[in-house]
Amino acid sequence: MALNFDHHTLGQRVYFGAGRANEYLKAALKDLDSKKVMVIASGSALRAAQEIAAGVEVAVWHSDVVMHVPLASAENARAVAAKRDIDVLVCVGGGSATGLAKAIALTMGIPIIAIPTTYAGSEATNVWGLTEDSRKTTGVDNKVLPTVVIYDSELTLSLPVEMSIASGLNGLAHCIDSLWAPRADPINAALALEGIRALAAGLPKIMNNPQGISGRDEALYGAYLAAVSFASAGSGLHHKICHVLGGTFNLPHAQTHATVLPYVLAFNAPFAPEVEKRAATALGSSTALEGLQKLRTQLKAPQKLTDYGFSAAGIPEAVSIILENIPANNPRPVTAENLTELLEKALVGAEPA
Ligand code: NAD
Repeated sequence: MALNFDHHTLGQRVYFGAGRANEYLKAALKDLDSKKVMVIASGSALRAAQEIAAGVEVAVWHSDVVMHVPLASAENARAVAAKRDIDVLVCVGGGSATGLAKAIALTMGIPIIAIPTTYAGSEATNVWGLTEDSRKTTGVDNKVLPTVVIYDSELTLSLPVEMSIASGLNGLAHCIDSLWAPRADPINAALALEGIRALAAGLPKIMNNPQGISGRDEALYGAYLAAVSFASAGSGLHHKICHVLGGTFNLPHAQTHATVLPYVLAFNAPFAPEVEKRAATALGSSTALEGLQKLRTQLKAPQKLTDYGFSAAGIPEAVSIILENIPANNPRPVTAENLTELLEKALVGAEPA
């Protein structure tokens, strides 16, 4: 098979080790020669952040973290960073904390050290997102790519199992969507397939033993690969759908991804047989959908969008916004009719195939 592609690799330093966040943070700050540290951590991550930053001089603790980064909260955080002459941002938390750090970096060019505590993966992408008037805008800018990522799976032990599963399936969605996204190529496919394998191995371990490090390590490793493949391949159909459900209808990010994934997989898989086969192998199953559904059953995964505040009344508006943004290379042609059908099924948790 002839290979022909144009692949971009993003540069980051990635530290990985359970219980080592404090040590790694100090090393990273020394490397960057940064003096004025702003720590961004939501309420739930504040205690962990204080432990991670033990022995580090922190100029500002900022905990006003809101999902999908409303513009007002970004502007408030930028003003704080400017007033205190901040020269490095340390974000501890899920994608919402990372997203706020990115919003500051976007306009101020301050380097980020990201210490993730979920499997959302924002720390490994150069994608930013801001929400204003119920519309979420995203963009790509290397200024927002964290310079350093510190993975310490001990920090994920406090993430409730249900949230861990939803977030891990968000990671799995990055992998699966990467296989047919606009810039899908053999390198991001290789990362995505290893990400699928690692997440499918790690998440059941978390379910059975939430305090075990090995499942948490595998899930975090898989989430990183997922995000690297997503950053490289771009947003496919699945992300375009979830982006609208989150930005316009304020549905929770991870649960929405976890719910919608089987519907997009069932929708695209018959039109993308080669990648479907590789995803099936990574999931250890004869078809990708069967593998995903077995895993979802085992994990008691989120089932239907009605559980997260979506209703049939929102479908026409969602369809019209999503249709404006369908990737041209999506394996299956997307129409208002088949997209409506997909959302109707996801709404009530109907059989995807
Ligand atoms: P989140 O950051 O809002 O976290 C979800 C919940 O878990 C929050 O209540 C949080 O306080 C809590 N939490 C996080 N870590 C915890 C821990 N270790 N222990 C206990 N509680 C913990 O949600 P998320 O799913 O991580 O991120 C979603 C956001 O990230 C969305 O806005 C999404 O658009 C964005 N995102 C961006 C990218 C990107 O590349 N730009 C990628 C993925 C997600």
